[in-house]
Parts: sequence; C-alpha cells; structure tokens
Amino acid sequence: MLVDSHCHLDFPDFAEEREAIVARAKAAGIGRMVTISTRVKRFQQVIEIAETFDDVYCSVGTHPHNVAEELDVTSVELVRLAAHPKVVAIGEAGLDYFYDKAPRDVQARGFRNHIAAARETGLPLVIHSRDADEDMAAILEDETGKGAFPFILHCFSSGRRLAEIGVALGGYVSFSGILTFKNSAELRAIAADVPHDRLLVETDAPYLAPVPFRGKRNEPAYVAHTAKVLAETIGVSEAEIAALTTNNFFRLFGKMPRPPAWPSKAPER
Ligand SMILES: [Zn+2]
Ligand SMILES: [Zn+2]
Repeated sequence: MLVDSHCHLDFPDFAEEREAIVARAKAAGIGRMVTISTRVKRFQQVIEIAETFDDVYCSVGTHPHNVAEELDVTSVELVRLAAHPKVVAIGEAGLDYFYDKAPRDVQARGFRNHIAAARETGLPLVIHSRDADEDMAAILEDETGKGAFPFILHCFSSGRRLAEIGVALGGYVSFSGILTFKNSAELRAIAADVPHDRLLVETDAPYLAPVPFRGKRNEPAYVAHTAKVLAETIGVSEAEIAALTTNNFFRLFGKMPRPPAWPSKAPER
C-alpha cells in the first residue's frame, strides 16, 4: 500500500471526475489520500469530499497565497474546525517568497497562527515553504523553542540546510513529483540523507506530475512513480519504500484510523 499525503481534490481541475480519480487511486494501491485545505473559507468543500470517500481525509488551513484574505481566522477557529473526525492535519501554511502574494510579515503571522493550532491539537502542520529557507528555519526554531509540534515540510524543494533543520526539530520531509525530474539531482542527494523514518511521498495533485506524466494534470494514483524514484534514491526496493513511507504516514497522521491490513505494530526499519 502507498499513500498520498498531499493532494487537492477540491480544485476545479478534478470537478467532473473526482469519483473516477479516487477509484483510480484505489486501483493503483493508494490506500489513503489527504486532501489539503488552502482556504478556511472554502473548508466546507474540502470536508464534503473527505466525508464522501472512506479513504480520503483532509486538513484545515490557509495557504500563504491566500493568507492576507484570512488573517481573521484565529488559531481558536482552526482548532474548532480540526475537531471533525476527518480532519487529520493543520495547513497547508507557511511562506512563499517565490510568488509573494501576501506581504512577508503577513505570511509569517498567518503561519504562526497555524503553528499554535498544531501545537494545541497535536495534529501535524503541513508546511509550504518556497524560496524562504532562512525565515522558515528561523520561525521553526523559534516556535519549537516555545513547545514542540509535529510538522511536514511538504513538496520539499528547498536547500539542504532547511531539510537538516527540519529533521533536527522532529519534522518529516515529503517529496513530490519534482524528485523524478531530470534536473533534480541535488534534491535526490538531499532525499538520500533524510533519515528513513522521516520520509513521506505526495503528489500535490493537480500540480507537479512525476515523470513520465510531467506537464500533465497530476492525480493521486501517480504517487507510485515518485515512490519508485525515492526507492532508487535511497537504495531500497519498491516494497520497502511503500512499507517505510506508509508506516511513517500512519505514525505522523495518528488521528487517522489504520486499515485492518496495516496494524499499528507494523515492523519498522
Ligand atoms: Zn504547497
Ligand atoms: Zn498543496
């Protein structure tokens, strides 16, 4: 079994065929998907999808692109929404200095609200970080100093130092289709050095389809292609990478019930 720790099933790209996409993922052996919230004001659509499909869970939060519109969403509100049984994570939240769609101090404020909610609920924080390595590292160090919280550096495409700091602070590192791109040798070198018990895989669908679908619309079934490259990168078999990343996933997303075929005492490497 594989899992997709990060996708966006509520995006209009999937509107016409959401059922078929979830069915294709299931047929491809993807046992769980987490559809990630990008706007609390559209959370209703996300939760409806999670309620519709047994294998789909969700997060609640505001993407850094949208944070200026949602500064009125407090950590108290996030904690309240996270009480729903299908909400297993907070986010995605963070810093995006590539697009800079919100002022940087506003991005930081929104991000810290989400950290407070993750600390309070104990749910993992899904972190989006792009071209913001130094500020991200500084905030993570500052905030974990006030009290630990579980987190994922999602769609990791930052520098080595941020991966190392994230791991040192207890975080997980999730790789997307970018890992499969020909020009991602440096990223694969970073992945090879992440401790095995902190590795995750994701699609970030509909974006970033892995090779051989690069440039096309992505979907959860394709996570197998990223897992295959991650297996080659760290020198394990495809069966081992599936067991490894799925174990990590269920350990981190501890609120999610495990399928009967995946006992809590699954052996770890
Ligand atoms: Zn993201
Ligand atoms: Zn995303």
